[in-house]
Amino acid sequence: MSIDQFANRFVCDLVAYEPGKPIDETARELGLNPADIVKVASNENPLGPSPLAKEAMRAALEEAHIYPDGGGYRLRSAISTMFEVPIDQVVIGNGSNEIIELLCHSFLNPGAELIAAEHAFVVYKLMATLFGARYVEVPDPGFVHDLDAMADAITEHTRLVFIANPNNPTGTMVGQEAIDRFMARVPEHVVVVFDEAYYEFVKNPPDTLKYVREGRNVCVLRTFSKIHGLAALRAGFGLASKGVTAILQKARQPFNVNAIAQVGALAALNDTKHVNATRAMNDEGLEFYEKAFAERGLKFVPSVANFLLVEVGDGDRVFKEMLQQGVIVRAMRSYKLPEWVRISIGTPAQNRRCLEVLDQVLAAVPA
Ligand SMILES: *Cc1c(COP(=O)(O)O)cnc(C)c1O
Repeated sequence: MSIDQFANRFVCDLVAYEPGKPIDETARELGLNPADIVKVASNENPLGPSPLAKEAMRAALEEAHIYPDGGGYRLRSAISTMFEVPIDQVVIGNGSNEIIELLCHSFLNPGAELIAAEHAFVVYKLMATLFGARYVEVPDPGFVHDLDAMADAITEHTRLVFIANPNNPTGTMVGQEAIDRFMARVPEHVVVVFDEAYYEFVKNPPDTLKYVREGRNVCVLRTFSKIHGLAALRAGFGLASKGVTAILQKARQPFNVNAIAQVGALAALNDTKHVNATRAMNDEGLEFYEKAFAERGLKFVPSVANFLLVEVGDGDRVFKEMLQQGVIVRAMRSYKLPEWVRISIGTPAQNRRCLEVLDQVLAAVPA
């Protein structure tokens, strides 16, 4: 008899999230030195963690025996000041992924609907499944969210609409006009989530915080995992209406963000030097790849984030063969894009190495 029949059936229905392949695992399998592996699979910061965060976290280790500030007062105050949103509209999470889960925990029941774009970040679908909700997938022609169609899809059962902006894995963004037109149509029983994990990479990002300040039922998600280079810490935050924030605060664990992460995130928030250096390197890398792909006649999706999608024919083959040479990219089959791989922007040396290996693999006759 299988234990599955006694478990929550929504959990049994889940397909576990497949993260980018870890460097250590790849090095072990290939018998290589981890330092020789190029991982451009998880949109991590190639410049490493914010130096200010590292320094602050080292000092914080001395207090590791004390429970964290469960209310996250210092970090939430700093976020409140920086984004000009009252502190009771700030929630912190163990990565912004935790806040995605808290939103779903708080607003989804079996029978409720969650709306997202066809090629949206896959975690939304996992969470909709976990809470037994109906996942409504709206086509995104040209890999860009179609907000008019997403507004059309809203019903009396809709509770959450997720807009990843820029979206992962497509790297595309919707602008202010489309967002304003969309927001004018959203009824009160729907919470709109703007997942802005890559916000800091964008030159002219749309303003969604105005809706938070207006008290609309929105939640804007940001993270320390991407431009701040702190993916290992698991720290992110949400800015939402008072009502939505109060619900999320009830749904979270008492000490959901650890003390070292709170201190690191606080320091990173003001590390504009690291943010600017990362953005500059990323712009250069995007340009490098877009030029290279155009020269080779490879189809790609122009990106405003720190990664891009390129069409390679058989994404699984290209992933595997690049891996054999120590370069980890991300195959896209789980996003229903089996012909594509996603490449994160690295250092100039990593970008050159990745392109060189991609060239070799594409030149070889498919096995
Ligand atoms: C990387 C990413 C996140 C951030 O995840 P964390 O849990 O904060 O590390 C959130 N949303 C999208 C679309 C992402 O790509």
